[in-house]
Amino acid sequence: MNSLMQKGEEESLPVAFVPTPTQQYRQHRKVNKVTKSAGLPIPIPVPFPRLNGHRVLIWKQDPSVTEIGIRKVFMPNLISSGPRNSRITSQGLPPVSANAFGDFIQTPGTDQFDAVHTFSIVQMTLKMVQRALSSTGNPIPWQWNSAVNTEPLQVFAHGLPDTMNAFYSRGQKALKFGDFIKPGSNPPQRIFTCRSLDIVAHETGHAILDGLKPNWITSPNPQAGGLHESFGDLMAIFLTLSQLDQVEAIIAQTKANLHDKTFLADMAEEFGLALGRPNGLRNADNDLKMSEVTNEVHAISQVFTGAIYDILADIFASERNTAKKDDAQVLLEVGQYLLSVVLRAILASPNVNPTYANLAIKMKDIVVADGKPVHYKNAVVNRFTVREIVVPALGVDGSEILSEGFTFADNVEGNFHTCCGCMQLEEYRANHENDEEAKELAKWLKKHASDEKNVKNKGE
Ligand SMILES: [Zn+2]
Repeated sequence: MNSLMQKGEEESLPVAFVPTPTQQYRQHRKVNKVTKSAGLPIPIPVPFPRLNGHRVLIWKQDPSVTEIGIRKVFMPNLISSGPRNSRITSQGLPPVSANAFGDFIQTPGTDQFDAVHTFSIVQMTLKMVQRALSSTGNPIPWQWNSAVNTEPLQVFAHGLPDTMNAFYSRGQKALKFGDFIKPGSNPPQRIFTCRSLDIVAHETGHAILDGLKPNWITSPNPQAGGLHESFGDLMAIFLTLSQLDQVEAIIAQTKANLHDKTFLADMAEEFGLALGRPNGLRNADNDLKMSEVTNEVHAISQVFTGAIYDILADIFASERNTAKKDDAQVLLEVGQYLLSVVLRAILASPNVNPTYANLAIKMKDIVVADGKPVHYKNAVVNRFTVREIVVPALGVDGSEILSEGFTFADNVEGNFHTCCGCMQLEEYRANHENDEEAKELAKWLKKHASDEKNVKNKGE
């Protein structure tokens, strides 16, 4: 028996605790109310969440796309002074530190802003691809990464002064962005390529694809080059589609018709305007077919980008259901799905000399295997057929078979002269095996090695 109980209490307790309208029970309630404040929940301490993540200020499209402008974005991952993290490091500009709130908010137009903006777009592009492939378990390494090398990608926001270009260099493990005076501007206006989401996402795309398929960038095959250039532009499109405020702006701008003029399809608007092109440097909403382009890789890339853009527009149009879902949400989801299809098709394509048809056929197989409605498969087949990338036929069992459409002759190499700076870099294009100087050096090294061996043998 509880030692605090009074004599006689033991017998009365069971009756008092039965909720009955007895005098005894009422008394018991009254006592409890006064002495124990019955009914108050006992608070369980909730641990404080770990406050990782930082706010950054970025151009969300391009300085010339004024309706989007500059916005604050939350980056959920840890960013150190630089800015830098384990995968990406800003270089060439004075390091930027977080403010008292842990945020990287800088004044637009300054070196610090450009460093933060460029780092952030590279990080957002990488994160988007990591998310899209998360179900496959595939890591997204940089080309030089291995079990013993986790070196990050270096980002030089102001890496090419007075240069109208930008590039990804595997040898330098870097992205470099140029700046230049806008031709004919008075007073002189300097254009910074790092301030364009499209250009930064495009160059990051080269780095990501080089990590996934290292032999594609060095291939002289026009379609391999076209895929690299197209992948860069597609990164810009999908990165735009992955942002809630951007998809909303696109829906309002186009009244939900993606073939209406939109900043989504226009690549690098400010750069394009500087060169006198009102639709940006390239336009994804084009009608180019394989037979209409030569071996010029920049043009060839637009055929593939155009096909993907059309597939996006087709699937979005068929998925729209305003009674159930907001258009902007549907566009965001369709963008996410199509990106994962493109990435999975790339992973499943040959490691050497890929063709557009390789990817088209894989994409068709993936949407079918995913159990998507038939209009997904139809969009893929129709759009790649119209572009002359594949030719559909019926097999003996009535199944649909896709074969390669337009092909270049084996000896036709890509012309990379109008591509972005990346594809023109000597490290990818030069054939060093046939370089006379390299042959001489190899001969000398061989002779030197055998001389050394002889001296060593004599010494023994
Ligand atoms: Zn490029």
